[in-house]
Amino acid sequence: MEKREQLYEGKAKKVFATDDKNAVIVSYKDDATAFDGAKKGTIVGKGVVNNKMSNFLMQILEKQGVKTHFIEELSDRETVVKKVEIVPLEVIIRNISAGSFARNYGVEEGIVFAEPTIEFSYKNDDLHDPLINSYHAVALKLATKEEIEQIKAMAFKVNAVLKDYFLGLGVKLVDFKLEFGRTADGEIVLADEISPDTCRFWDKDTNEKLDKDRFRRDMGGVEDAYKEMMKRVFGE
Ligand code: UDP
Repeated sequence: MEKREQLYEGKAKKVFATDDKNAVIVSYKDDATAFDGAKKGTIVGKGVVNNKMSNFLMQILEKQGVKTHFIEELSDRETVVKKVEIVPLEVIIRNISAGSFARNYGVEEGIVFAEPTIEFSYKNDDLHDPLINSYHAVALKLATKEEIEQIKAMAFKVNAVLKDYFLGLGVKLVDFKLEFGRTADGEIVLADEISPDTCRFWDKDTNEKLDKDRFRRDMGGVEDAYKEMMKRVFGE
């Protein structure tokens, strides 16, 4: 696999072309942003944690029948993935109230839901990623009705698999954000990343936060939290 020109640089990753027109290389950075880019910083070692953890989780999900973009891990920070057209929706699943849910609906964090919830945001920086419902997404032609149904089913399946998996590591999967893409053949696959940047992880016994909220909320111990999650997943 030959790495060619940079196609794109996002907040946390760079994307490079390869000699395969259906594959790209993603390179994970240590750069962190929050609050729509208003807060910027560095979380030393984050790129390595997110790359390795995301790849590992995607392989678990593949075994459980969830199609993903993952092809091959090249190094600590670089991975070959299927080239996809990203569906411009952030798909958020919640098991426990936190973050914007608690804020928007005036409830405390930590309420355990009887059933997981799903919501969508329209990925659009100029509009600041507004909440959107599935009818609006179809009206705006962000995805077809069939694709939305498939994305919903895949997102709940991801939750069922990962919730159990993390509980086995002594971690509550509070909520998380997924992104999906269309391959050249028009297949919907799980894309982007699954990491402490995109999930809320709370220790099962102490509710200690082990994710990017430590950065968002200036709690300190951010690097240690990422390292702790790495240790839970991969051992010493
Ligand atoms: N999330 C994300 N990217 C975003 C917005 C949210 O990865 O642009 C994740 C976030 O880490 C959390 C979940 O989605 O695990 C729900 O986030 P929420 O809507 O509560 O937003 P926040 O409180 O972070 O503003």
